[in-house]
This record gives sequence, C-alpha cells and structure tokens, in this order.
Amino acid sequence: MMDLDSLKRLVSSEVDRLRDRIIWMADTIHENPEIGHKEFRASEILTSALREGGFEVRVGVAGMKTAFTAFKRGRAERPVVGILYEYDALKGLGHACGHNLIGAGGVGAALALSRVLQDVEGSLMVFGTSAEEGGVENAGGKVIMVEEFRAADACLIWHPGSRNMASRQSSYAREAIQFEFYGKAAHAGAAPWEGVNALNTLLLMFRAIDALRQHVRPDVRIHGIIEKGGEAPNIVPDYASAKFYVRVADINYLHEVSEKVKNCARGAAMATGAEVRFWNYANTYANTIVNHTLADAIEENMRALGVEVYKPQERRIPPGGGSTDVGNVSQVTPICSFYLVIGPETLVGHTPEFREAARSEKGHEAVILAEDPRYDSPGPLPEAGALREG
Ligand SMILES: [Zn+2]
Repeated sequence: MMDLDSLKRLVSSEVDRLRDRIIWMADTIHENPEIGHKEFRASEILTSALREGGFEVRVGVAGMKTAFTAFKRGRAERPVVGILYEYDALKGLGHACGHNLIGAGGVGAALALSRVLQDVEGSLMVFGTSAEEGGVENAGGKVIMVEEFRAADACLIWHPGSRNMASRQSSYAREAIQFEFYGKAAHAGAAPWEGVNALNTLLLMFRAIDALRQHVRPDVRIHGIIEKGGEAPNIVPDYASAKFYVRVADINYLHEVSEKVKNCARGAAMATGAEVRFWNYANTYANTIVNHTLADAIEENMRALGVEVYKPQERRIPPGGGSTDVGNVSQVTPICSFYLVIGPETLVGHTPEFREAARSEKGHEAVILAEDPRYDSPGPLPEAGALREG
C-alpha cells in the first residue's frame, strides 16, 4: 500500500493538472447564475465532468431535477467518503455566496482523488445538493434528499468566506412558520362592533410571543414580520398574516418551542374570535452537529498547506445563530464544512462584493486550495502504476 504522503502528493499533482479546468468551471457557473432548483447548466457542467472521470452519475435525486449523486468505487466498497456540492445563485445578486466555487472545487476534488482511488480502501460519493439558498420554493435541497446521505460514512463540504476555518460552528435548528388570521370586515367608525379584527389578533400573538421569551432557554430566537395587516384604517381588517422563524440550538427542543409559539396564535384567536391557520412555508433545518475528528483532520491538512487557521472558540465568539441544510446532513452522517478565504476579513456573504470575490484571483486560489492536500510542495511523484502492487 502506498503511504499517505505519496497519495497526497499524487492528488496534489492531479489538482495542478486540473487547475485551468476547475477555474473554468467556477467562472462559467459564475457567469451563468441560476437560482435554486433551476441550476440546469451548473448541474450539467459538474455532472459531465464527473461522468468523464468515470463516476456513475444519477441525476434527478429525490424528485429534484438539478440534484444528483455520483459514485466511484475504490479498492474496497467502504468506507464511503462523501463530497457535497452547492451551485445555486441568489435571486438578482448572482453568485454572491460563492457557490460556483463550491461546485467547481468539489469536482476538482472528486477527479483528483480518482487518480488514487484504486490504491485506497474505500469509495467516493458525490452529492449535488441543489437550492441551498432560501428565497425559492422548497429551498433546502439537502433536507429533501437527506436519506441519500446515509450511504456515506463521512462527508465533506467547503464554503468560501472571509476566514480560514477547519469547521463551521454549530448552526441552529429552524422552523419557518406562516400564520394567517381571518376576521370579519366592518366599517371601523360606523359599526366596529360588527367586525372581528384580524390585525389585533396578530398583534396579540406578537405580544404573547414576547411574554414567552422569558420562559424559554437562552438559545431560542423567535423573529417575525407582519406581511399583511389590513387595507385601510376605516375598514376593520378581516385578514392579517405574519411569517416567523423559530430557531433553537437543538432540534428536539425546537418542536417544543414551536408548539408554544403556535399556542400564542391559538390563544390570540380565541381572545378576539378570529380564526387562525398556520403551516411551515419552508423546510425545517436541523442544527449542525460538529464532528471534531473530521475537523481536526481538515485542520492538519490546512496547516500543512501553510494556511493560517482561524479558531472561533479562541476568540470566544458565541456559536452562530444562522441555520443551514447542512445541519440535516449532520444528523444522519458525520460531516465537516470548512471555510477558505476569498477576500478581506470584512467581506460579508450575499453582497455584490462577495460576488466579485467569487471570481477574483483570491477566489481562484481558494477553489484550488479546497481540494489540494499539499498545494505548496508537490515533490517527486511515485509512479502511478507501481501503486497498484501493494
Ligand atoms: Zn452559501
């Protein structure tokens, strides 16, 4: 068997060979931004490269036209290591989250690892996960295809950012709930006693939720907006609606808190005599379970590449309160998502600046670094044929 160092050097030289192609894929996807579940071109670019690399590709996973999986067997079937891709853009903003780099870097990783796969005990599985970004119908592709990830023994994904991190911190579980209140319209001045005020009901719910805040755990975040509150001041509103996010550090507690929030709506409706309806208007995200074993391995590789690794806990920053569909994956298989710098520390996702960084020289550097186990010093290469002996 070839030693790990030689394997890494081989993969590294393969990444060098693929460099122009990886950057071409990243830039082409950047120039043709497609929103969630419509990433047809990106999906085509990524899967055709995988097919060429000898992967068995399956497109249209879990009923999503732009989601895919790809598999290539190594010397043994297991363990199966998974690589996750994202490739969707933001409505009106293009690739302002740099998912063009995630997809292209992921293909680079799969093709480069292909070179040594016959010398490794295990297989490679790729997961093309569409529609990561919210703002489209049925966002959160990883939630929809979550059963697929059980095939992998461990998964990796990377994301461009403003700091090099071996692992993201945990993310919050999140439920997205829409509330609708139905009352009865009436002349607000002449005969208000004939009306049932839907807006008042909705405001009561907001107040009940504020009263709830004192009696839930400190990690709970409940935040909502009023979508519709009436037509004119002289009409008692017969309809009002609000959208809420309920976020909690742990999915088991999320359901309990969501139920309390729904009770606030039920109670408000009872108080005014309005009717209430509610439902989840987006997929529910689970919290991310951080896998420290994978994170340590990634960190070791990053340091070997001369990357300065940022450690959030060293600076005592509390865990992020955001939510991602990576969380749902982390509930079924160990996963590590690492971050690589594509711009200054002040760079913020979902902005035009981030979009420009996603096709900058620094962005290109990151997309190569993402799959390179030994970027700096490839060193002398062992003969590929000699590897198959051991
Ligand atoms: Zn993103």
